[in-house]
Amino acid sequence: MKDVPDTETKNANEQLVAPQSIEPARESVPAAMPRVVIVGAGFGGLHAARALRNAPVQVTVVDRNNHHLFQPLLYQVATGVLSPAEISATIRSVLSKQKNAEVLLAEVTGVDVEAQRVLMHDESLPYDYLILATGAKDSYFGHNDWAAFAPGLKSIVQATAIRRRLLLAFEMAEKETDPQKRQALLTFVLVGAGPTGVEMAGAIGGLAHKTLVADFRHIDPREARIVLVEALPRILMPFDERLAHKAHTALTQLRVEIRTNSPVEAIDSEGVIIVGERIAARTVIWTAGVAASLAGQWLY
Ligand SMILES: Cc1cc2nc3c(=O)[nH]c(=O)nc-3n(C[C@H](O)[C@H](O)[C@H](O)COP(=O)(O)OP(=O)(O)OC[C@H]3O[C@@H](n4cnc5c(N)ncnc54)[C@H](O)[C@@H]3O)c2cc1C
Repeated sequence: MKDVPDTETKNANEQLVAPQSIEPARESVPAAMPRVVIVGAGFGGLHAARALRNAPVQVTVVDRNNHHLFQPLLYQVATGVLSPAEISATIRSVLSKQKNAEVLLAEVTGVDVEAQRVLMHDESLPYDYLILATGAKDSYFGHNDWAAFAPGLKSIVQATAIRRRLLLAFEMAEKETDPQKRQALLTFVLVGAGPTGVEMAGAIGGLAHKTLVADFRHIDPREARIVLVEALPRILMPFDERLAHKAHTALTQLRVEIRTNSPVEAIDSEGVIIVGERIAARTVIWTAGVAASLAGQWLY
């Protein structure tokens, strides 16, 4: 399968956005057949669609991307272990055998609850039953300006951008003669030691200590400084303490520096400030908070 595009970028949206003339087709579904609209083709939305495969309903799955994404393996795309196509599949192909389901590429912007219509920029779609499964987004705890310096890891676009940033950092360090600048290039900060932060830290450790180790002549990739920052007293706080301890040991073996009880106070183009200490880093990745998507607000 070829790389699938992610319509979160403007250009991709321009290429993939659905034609505006779909409204008549949507209206043509027989009146006797209740119409279920599912917004979002993540795990939740697709599971709901599949559960309705034998039901006497017409299912329409709407997603702003043309692909379903297996998010748990995004960190492997971000570190170059897997290609985007290995963790995604087009929504159409997933539902191709389900005769009562159709797929619509569109970004939902709201819901008119009274009129029972899903709103999508300049078009809308009627529903009898509505399932909103739009997932979560990054939360920067009120510091939205940090997003420009510390991308999150939720989509293919973000994963490939992080991959580029990581690999370029090693390339630029190879050419850099100023020791301080080189160190900043080889410093990678992960903000948030939940599962994503822990996986990313381990994967960057693997990149530095195994994958890239023999490939450079002017730097030793093993000198990369990988800092995993956590505001809480330990990593993987929601998990059993013994598991967290094992992960802690494994990360330490990869020379990941774990800084617990260390809330981030600032993030900018030069790096981060944690508990008053500045860490110069050219790569900062946000693996901390998530918040529900805006879909909940559409209903009120
Ligand atoms: C890096 C990472 C690692 C993870 N690791 C694990 C793990 O190991 N184990 C585990 O159990 N969970 C893991 N998770 C969490 C898990 O992936 C999520 O809980 C799960 O994907 C949520 O499914 P969902 O269907 O609710 O949302 P999503 O999978 O996020 O799907 C939402 C869908 O809605 C679409 N959408 C959103 N807004 C709109 C809109 N306005 N219009 C149209 N479409 C829209 C999106 O394009 C997307 O396709 C991980 C998550 C991440 C990011």
